[in-house]
Amino acid sequence: MLIGGHVSSAGGLARAVERAEELGCETMQIFNQSPRTWRPTAYADADFEAFRERFADSPIDSAFIHAAYLIHVASDDAEVRRKSLQSLTHALTVGEAIGASGVIVHPGSGKGQTRAKAMKLIGDAFKRALAASEGCPLLIENTAGSGDTVGRHFDELADVVERAGAGERLGVCLDSAHLLASGHEIRTPAALAAVVDDYERDLGIERLRCLHLNDSKTPLGSNVDRHANLGEGELGENGIRVFLGEPRFHGLPVLLEVPGPTGHGPDPGQIAIAKRLRDEARSKRARGYRTPGSSRAPSRSRRRSAG
Ligand SMILES: [Zn+2]
Ligand SMILES: [Zn+2]
Repeated sequence: MLIGGHVSSAGGLARAVERAEELGCETMQIFNQSPRTWRPTAYADADFEAFRERFADSPIDSAFIHAAYLIHVASDDAEVRRKSLQSLTHALTVGEAIGASGVIVHPGSGKGQTRAKAMKLIGDAFKRALAASEGCPLLIENTAGSGDTVGRHFDELADVVERAGAGERLGVCLDSAHLLASGHEIRTPAALAAVVDDYERDLGIERLRCLHLNDSKTPLGSNVDRHANLGEGELGENGIRVFLGEPRFHGLPVLLEVPGPTGHGPDPGQIAIAKRLRDEARSKRARGYRTPGSSRAPSRSRRRSAG
C-alpha cells in the first residue's frame, strides 16, 4: 500500500511533485485545473515535460488527477453538460501527458432528471471523454450520496461502468469517508469485508485502482460529504486502521484529501499517521490476525448488508 495525498499544483505541475515529496508521499494527486471554475488551465508541452522529469527523479510511485468538482455530465443544463465533457476530456489529456495512473471523477448529480436519464447521460459522456483521449484510465469515485448524486451504491457505479463501455480504462476509486456517509459500516474488519464483498460482486476487485483515505465529520448514513483529519472523525484511528488492513486493498495507492491542520490539505503529520496506521494494520495481519470476512470461503454469497 502506497500512502500519499492531494497537493496543490500552484506555480506549475513540477512544483506539485516537490510538495508531495516534502509531505513524505509515496503517491500523489493533483487537480488539472482550478476545481471550482470552468476555465481550463492552458499547459505547454514544457509543463508536462517538467513534471515528468521531476517525477522520474522523485521517490513517488504514482500520480493521479482529480477532475473538477463542477463536472456534472448529467445536468439538465446543456451548457453545463458541454463544459463538463470538455473539462473531463482536458483532465484525461493532461493525465496522459504527465503519465498519470488515472483521472478520478465523481459521477455527478442528475438534478432535475429521472435517474434513468441521468445514468444514460453519465455513461454517454464518459464514453465520449474516453474516445476523445488516449490511454489514461478514468476512475469513478463512490459518493457520499447527497441530493441527487449518482454513485452512493456500488450497483450504480457498476451501471455507469457498463454504460461507459466497460473498457479496460474504466476503474473505481473508493473513498472511506464517502463509504461511511453513504451508509456503509466499515469500522470493523467483518463489516468492511462484507462491504468489499458487495463491491467485488458488483464491480470486480480488478477495477479498484486507488483509495481515498479521509475521516468523516458526518456520521454513518448522513449523506453529507465533509472530510475530517485522520483520527478526528467518525472513523477514528481504529476505523482507519481497519480500512488499511483490508486484504483486498493490499498494494493500492491511498490518497489523503483531509483538511490538514490549516485547511490547506494534508500535512506531513497526517501522512505520517496514515503510514503508522498502515504499518500497524500490516503487523496485525503478520501476527496471524484474520478478518472474519476474509477467513471464510463463501463470502461472495453473503447477502447485501448495506448500501
Ligand atoms: Zn475523495
Ligand atoms: Zn468527499
